[in-house]
Amino acid sequence: MKAISVLGSTGSIGTQTLEIAEEFPEQFRVVALTAGSNVSLVVEQIQRHHPEVVALANESLLPELQQQLNALPLEQQPDQLPQLLGGPDGLNVAASWDSADLVVSGIVGCAGLLPTLAAIKAGKDLALANKETLIAAAPVVLPELKRSGSRLLPADSEHSAIFQCLQGTPWAENARLSTGVPTPGLRHIQLTASGGAFRDWSAKDLEKATVADATSHPNWSMGRKITVDSATLMNKGLEVIEAHYLFGIDYDQIEIVIHPQSIIHSMIELADSSVLAQLGWPDMKLPILYCLSWPERLETPWRRLNLTEVGELTFRAPDTKKYPCMELAYAVGRAGGTMPAVLNAANEEAVAQFLEERIHFLDIPEVIEAACERHKPDLQSQPNLDEVLAADAWARQAVKEQVKRGTSRLPLPALKV
Ligand code: NDP
Repeated sequence: MKAISVLGSTGSIGTQTLEIAEEFPEQFRVVALTAGSNVSLVVEQIQRHHPEVVALANESLLPELQQQLNALPLEQQPDQLPQLLGGPDGLNVAASWDSADLVVSGIVGCAGLLPTLAAIKAGKDLALANKETLIAAAPVVLPELKRSGSRLLPADSEHSAIFQCLQGTPWAENARLSTGVPTPGLRHIQLTASGGAFRDWSAKDLEKATVADATSHPNWSMGRKITVDSATLMNKGLEVIEAHYLFGIDYDQIEIVIHPQSIIHSMIELADSSVLAQLGWPDMKLPILYCLSWPERLETPWRRLNLTEVGELTFRAPDTKKYPCMELAYAVGRAGGTMPAVLNAANEEAVAQFLEERIHFLDIPEVIEAACERHKPDLQSQPNLDEVLAADAWARQAVKEQVKRGTSRLPLPALKV
């Protein structure tokens, strides 16, 4: 039985991981949970999974968590209450919890970096959904993976697809560690993209895009931040950088392909020109399960793929004018160093400002690009952790200041009180 920790247990990735744990009680037991602020869901999760430790990022909610647990009727109280921790230190302790074999990194944004690093330093195997950690801090994370021997299993569906395809090659042994070492024989990657909420909108219509529009994804059910990232296609840009670091492949060899049905989750081309793909319904439970069960495969009763039901699989090139974030991500990835940390943080802040209706959807790429441009003279090519964190903090502040000054579309932002 594998002991797992779930960072971000109250989110989309976290709750799906816990559903899997519940579905396979013989295979997995949950030993640690971390969440941000969702106390009532954490209480439910404690009742169902009996973790040994629970950490809340929002430390001020610990008394409420304790109170809610104490208030449970006797028959609903877990036999043993978990150790309750709070704040950044609490998250790090839970992430490196001794009895865990594998840590699912499902916190959203760069907030996941330090707990994920704590898990790596403790030598835990890692199921990485939190791509922002790798994008912002690969120069720190990759050497740490090597030092600790922690194995990185990609949970993002596209990277899981690539990883699964690589299992069928003579270089599977190399590919399983995914630590940025070039994979011999891997010639090209095609990352598929659903196209996000606005794939059928014209560039002109994007001027009318609202928060409600940008947060309804046609194929996947995910948290709000990544859903907006899918609408701008920044998510795909971030995934290009993620693929570069995970599989040690040059940016010129990574291509984005719009595939509206989201059935092919990505493809690899090998040296002999053979192309391998991984297919399935758009459901994150499959890539998460593969991280948990790897190198085994578990039998599931899940809905099986029926291609005649799908009917057709279509592909087209992405429109780089309509979606400037993609090319920006390629350029930032090639620049390397602290630049991806700036891109990532500026994007997180821009998306937060958009969700608060302080900037327009079309302002998102503009404010990110402006932050990246301003960072150019300060770029550190081999940053340490402090330099990554400083670049991250600077980029958030740069976007906030720009929004305060006004963007081209909203000269006087309607700041909410
Ligand atoms: P959600 O917004 O659904 O969940 C985020 C989780 O992170 C919640 O548990 C939340 O806690 C917690 N959290 C938020 N802020 C903090 C913080 N400051 N410190 C600690 N914990 C925090 O996100 P998703 O599950 O959609 O995404 C998680 C990660 O997985 C992202 O990096 C995303 O890019 C990646 N991913 C997600 C996919 C998906 O299908 N959802 C697919 C592929 C990748 P609380 O709610 O309690 O405040």
